[in-house]
Amino acid sequence: MRGCFLCPRLCGIDRARASGACRSGSELRVGAVVVHRGEEPPLVAGSGSGAVFFCGCPMRCSYCQNHQISQSCEGRAMTPGELALAMLRLEGEGCSNINLVSPTHYTPWILESIEQARASGMRLPVLVNSSGYETRECLHLWRDHARIYLMDLKYGDNVAGKTLSGVSDYWDVARDAIEYLWETAGPLVEDTEGRASHGLLVRHLVLPGMISNPFSVLEFLSGLSTEIPVSIMSQYNPVYYRGDMPDMRRPLDAGEYEAVLRKACDLGFETVFCQDMGASDTYNPDFKADRPFDDLSRLL
Ligand code: SF4
Repeated sequence: MRGCFLCPRLCGIDRARASGACRSGSELRVGAVVVHRGEEPPLVAGSGSGAVFFCGCPMRCSYCQNHQISQSCEGRAMTPGELALAMLRLEGEGCSNINLVSPTHYTPWILESIEQARASGMRLPVLVNSSGYETRECLHLWRDHARIYLMDLKYGDNVAGKTLSGVSDYWDVARDAIEYLWETAGPLVEDTEGRASHGLLVRHLVLPGMISNPFSVLEFLSGLSTEIPVSIMSQYNPVYYRGDMPDMRRPLDAGEYEAVLRKACDLGFETVFCQDMGASDTYNPDFKADRPFDDLSRLL
């Protein structure tokens, strides 16, 4: 950590002396540990997903619903041993997986936690839940520790990534990350009880005015393989947006969302997860509450 190159920003800074663009320094900070039912069905089968939300993020999305922790970094410092104990408690609650939300900038700490939890008997699969803004090198570090990859592919061009998330190379970087995961992890596979056991699932949040370029996203994914399960999300809520693009100040239109779902079907994807148009009222977390996602979750 004397020169951090964990994410594609490649700051190279000494994290013991300063925070990087991810707003993270030398201590592992956790925003919330949650038993969570608000993910795709294979990820929450059984008693839910054991989610750990990490503070900070290499991205700067101007509409982030998790801004309390991703940008304001509200949370607490944990040692790798404390995080290992939290993972064991999530397993004790009956969760189906350990769902690491935005873990990239803490990768070495978390790998140590997983090793400690495994040494104490944890058997759950570990899930990397990421913006998709990842290097192959960092993803390679996870290979022996994580089995499930829930990757965003947020934009279908670099301009949108620059305008909305403050990174100029999102489309190039995220495509490469997903190609790598497709080659190494394959599609999401479920066990006989419908629980995800391993593999890749890709998410795309459709933005109003099609600003995220969803057709480009879907065409790229279908070119890799229509076996990749895609989760097409309608939950965009303009109340979080802090920019000045007129379309981003309004909700997603049902016709826009349906056009994206139709495109996914036309391209032949075998598995498409979708949301209803009320989802924008459902996924508005308050990480200071006992139930950050209302009835869909509870803090551990
Ligand atoms: S993880 Fe943080 S410090 Fe490291 S390269 Fe990325 S933004 Fe910079």
